[in-house]
Amino acid sequence: YMLHDQTQAAELERTFIAIKPDGVQRGLIAEIISRFEQKGYKLVAIKLVVPSKEFAQKHYHDLSERPFFNGLCDFLSSGPVLAMVWEGEGVIKYGRKLIGATDPQKSEPGTIRGDLAVVVGRNIIHGSDGPETAVDEINLWFKPEELVNYTSNAEKWVYGVN
Ligand code: GDP
Ligand code: MG
Repeated sequence: YMLHDQTQAAELERTFIAIKPDGVQRGLIAEIISRFEQKGYKLVAIKLVVPSKEFAQKHYHDLSERPFFNGLCDFLSSGPVLAMVWEGEGVIKYGRKLIGATDPQKSEPGTIRGDLAVVVGRNIIHGSDGPETAVDEINLWFKPEELVNYTSNAEKWVYGVN
């Protein structure tokens, strides 16, 4: 059958979301996943990994000139990171809204960082900042076969089509 346009768009947009070692160690995995799940986004990949420092440097390559780069990469590689791919209409931009501003002091209440973090160096979660970085980050963290294709039972209710 023909997929409705909206359903197709929802399936096309994907973002990379990671709970950093502070979020994992603080027991915030379920809380953070819930926010994406309850919004109506679809989980398509998930794994717990301890990235090497070299891997962390690749992930944050855009920030290599910043003074906090070394500490940031040490931190990201210091323990388990929960790496995920979430899918849905507008998920890249709205995922960033759910996460909140980079500095938790400036994140609105109701956002993940606003509700659950206090300082910029321990802001518990990463989310891709645009379509190109989303593709790059998904490809860096996941092999194609780790992305699961399935029809979510919720989809027809979330999008109201078919
Ligand atoms: P994000 O996309 O909101 O995560 O922010 P950026 O891409 O600008 O920075 C990546 C990460 O580097 C942030 O999530 C913070 O953990 C860290 N970071 C950013 N700015 C600062 C800073 O001024 N000081 C420190 N210590 N860490 C920072
Ligand atoms: Mg960023």
